[in-house]
Amino acid sequence: MEGKGRAMDSPYGRFLTIVDEVAGCAAVDGAELERIKVPERIHTVAIPLRRDDGRVELYTGYRVQHSSARGPYKGGIRYHPQVCLDEVMALAAWMSIKTAVVDIPMGGGKGGIAVDPRRLTTGELERLTRSYTERIYRDIGPEVDIPAPDVNTTSQTMDWLADEYGRLTGRQQPAVVTGKSIAQGGSQGRDTATAQGGFDVLQAVLADRGEQLAGMRVAIQGFGNAGATAARLVSEAGARVVAVSDSSAALVDERGLPVQRLVHYKAEGGRFADLDDSIRRIDQEALLGWEVDILIPAALEGQITAQNAGAITGRYVVELANGPTTPEADGVLERRGVTVLPDILANAGGVVVSYFEWLQNRQNERWSREDVNRRLGEVMERAYARVARTAAEQTVSLRLAAYCVAVQRIAAALPHREPRLLLEV
Ligand code: NAD
Repeated sequence: MEGKGRAMDSPYGRFLTIVDEVAGCAAVDGAELERIKVPERIHTVAIPLRRDDGRVELYTGYRVQHSSARGPYKGGIRYHPQVCLDEVMALAAWMSIKTAVVDIPMGGGKGGIAVDPRRLTTGELERLTRSYTERIYRDIGPEVDIPAPDVNTTSQTMDWLADEYGRLTGRQQPAVVTGKSIAQGGSQGRDTATAQGGFDVLQAVLADRGEQLAGMRVAIQGFGNAGATAARLVSEAGARVVAVSDSSAALVDERGLPVQRLVHYKAEGGRFADLDDSIRRIDQEALLGWEVDILIPAALEGQITAQNAGAITGRYVVELANGPTTPEADGVLERRGVTVLPDILANAGGVVVSYFEWLQNRQNERWSREDVNRRLGEVMERAYARVARTAAEQTVSLRLAAYCVAVQRIAAALPHREPRLLLEV
């Protein structure tokens, strides 16, 4: 698990690189840093799926439990053809960091299945989810590890997982997953939480600098749960969304794109490539360099690289996606004076409201959307203020400051018992 031998441009390699950088700014000793670099547990499972035509296929799934120092493992489940152990390990580690940055009493974990969900029918997706649950249910639970949705998984996926967990354990426990449908114990505001939290942080940094969102030009890469909600929030606040993309195409309109129409179109399952031709299309890569004030990557990791970072015009990058910027690109952006609101802070709203959902389930309560959003805003503003203060005190980027705050909190919570040594015989 050492940095040696692991490709430094892989997602987990990037996590290790930044943890090494933290050594310079956090009061944490080397042994504690080493412990944070190694996931506590890794589960790899073979998942059989009976297709509708009767054939049985085998898929590979993962659940990585990175750190439970501050509470139960917490993190989403991703369905994507490129899911691999390295990626899930990085996503799990980022969750530990994220829960620590926003200071909720949870650790970090993540899961995934290497599958292209677009090739499966709804019935097949349900069977795949139940089959995966059957293979990990002994290792999760409301006080152990609490999954949630991520790329290509939804509240429906979580409802299946919770139901299967209840069937296998003989006890329905909604708090085993978050991001469920409201009818199955989900929280108001969970669907919009990731973007809402990023929006709160963006408003806080703009207020700090005496700037206003109204009138700013925004580009958004990815138009799913996080990206589409962000588009709605910034446009409602008076910003102009001039460029958006999904995995099929990128759209631009200097006067501002019809955000509501695009949100509805995507909610119905449409692809931008199939949209009528009234909206101009550009090369997807060109979106990142489109002339804007704010760039919001909300798709997958590794999108802003050393090759394209120089072309970014936005003064602010709000990382709603996990790990969208490579460390080399980060250096380029920093040198160019671009303010990067790092993923581990900017997209932590999802896990904060997941925590609220878990709390409501366990206390048998239901909070209103207004209540959830107000509490979320308080958590995000407090987290931003702490990170911004550390960045100013240590003269480091917001990303490094957020890592320093998080790593210090995790290290402080590590059990300090002596490991039980094997007796020599
Ligand atoms: P999603 O599946 O709802 O949406 C992903 C979007 O990205 C889709 O519109 C897809 O078409 C688009 N996309 C994929 N590849 C692309 C490409 N190369 N160029 C442009 N668009 C592309 O997923 P989501 O839940 O919105 O998650 C998006 C990102 O946000 C991921 O990195 C995820 O880990 C992160 N995130 C999500 C949450 C959450 O609560 N949903 C929380 C924290 C972080």
